[in-house]
Amino acid sequence: MIRVIVDFDLCQGHGMCELEAPDVFAAQRDTVELLDNPVDDFLRPDLERAVRFCPTQALSIVQEDD
Ligand code: SF4
Repeated sequence: MIRVIVDFDLCQGHGMCELEAPDVFAAQRDTVELLDNPVDDFLRPDLERAVRFCPTQALSIVQEDD
């Protein structure tokens, strides 16, 4: 499993993460809601794109032992 970490001080609700990983993120007006956390490993490529494209660098991911 992969744990998603959001720095809510940085997040501005841009929604790029939702575009890349709609199963995990739901952008709100100025923040983001996590729909799933921790996240199944098969979504890692989506999560990595969300981390990369977040304009405020608010996201990070951590691999967790199952
Ligand atoms: S892309 Fe970044 S700033 Fe935008 S909603 Fe997602 S975490 Fe927040």
